[in-house]
Amino acid sequence: MTDWQTIYRPCRVIENREIARGSRWIKLHAEDQHPLPYEPGHVLSLRMTQGGWQMRHAYTITWANADERTFNIIYRVIPHGRMTPRLAMLEAGAPLEFSGVHHNPIRHEVNAGAQAVVGIATGTGVGPLYGYFRYVLERGLESRPCSLFIGFRQEADLGPRSELDALAARFANFRWTPTLTQPTPSWPGLRGRVTESVPGLIEKPRETHFHLVGNGLMIVEMEAALARIGVPGDFVSDEYYFNWNAEATQEAAAAIAGRFVA
Ligand SMILES: Cc1cc2nc3c(=O)[nH]c(=O)nc-3n(C[C@H](O)[C@H](O)[C@H](O)COP(=O)(O)OP(=O)(O)OC[C@H]3O[C@@H](n4cnc5c(N)ncnc54)[C@H](O)[C@@H]3O)c2cc1C
Repeated sequence: MTDWQTIYRPCRVIENREIARGSRWIKLHAEDQHPLPYEPGHVLSLRMTQGGWQMRHAYTITWANADERTFNIIYRVIPHGRMTPRLAMLEAGAPLEFSGVHHNPIRHEVNAGAQAVVGIATGTGVGPLYGYFRYVLERGLESRPCSLFIGFRQEADLGPRSELDALAARFANFRWTPTLTQPTPSWPGLRGRVTESVPGLIEKPRETHFHLVGNGLMIVEMEAALARIGVPGDFVSDEYYFNWNAEATQEAAAAIAGRFVA
């Protein structure tokens, strides 16, 4: 019997669209008959082959539909990156390969004992958090206040806007808020990194579950601050996309901790 969890499996691009400057949403169709048990937060390996060149990277599921046999990923096109500029060029019908079901769905990591759920992302870390909130809200699995905060550089980087707005319009207990590190003077929203602008907005941090996705520096600094203010360790979960070796200085952790409402 084939161990479908370890092999590279064929898939095809259904669509590959830009959702903001430098960020794309790719929808893929599994071309085999093995199971497709993906949920938002599961991780897979995506492999590209072009001529004699081959490359693979980990990506996190934003959304999947087992009946359609499709799965979706939001990815950042890294300028001068090895794989993502090539991935961005793929058109509908292009072949790719994928492998594995890794990590846990976010819904298995969020603590049922918390009174509220806060997702914090940098950039394309928004993908699985958007998918998670949509998954639990559409299925009636979540009635707690749900907030998603996302850090971007500029307004042009901000997405997927229409999907997030649509989710907020459908569910009164969901809100999403971007924060910009390089806003124009007329930007009416939050300013600064998520570690600067978000803590003061969290009403009861010790009773809240935090799921953090994206840049490792944001994750270690925020987690160090949450530990300082007494948020239980099992009310915090994360997923690193890059910057795995980042460390939080005492000063940074103290400054972020000090921004939470007393
Ligand atoms: C568990 C896991 C899940 C991941 N899920 C996603 C995902 O869903 N979407 C996604 O866009 N990426 C995700 N990544 C990152 C992805 O695996 C690749 O590292 C990224 O796509 C780099 O592609 P590249 O070959 O073009 O760049 P490379 O040439 O390999 O790297 C260039 C540099 O880009 C930086 N970088 C990597 N990812 C990002 C990013 N997302 N934003 C900004 N800078 C980055 C790194 O510092 C790296 O040194 C994930 C990584 C891990 C470990």
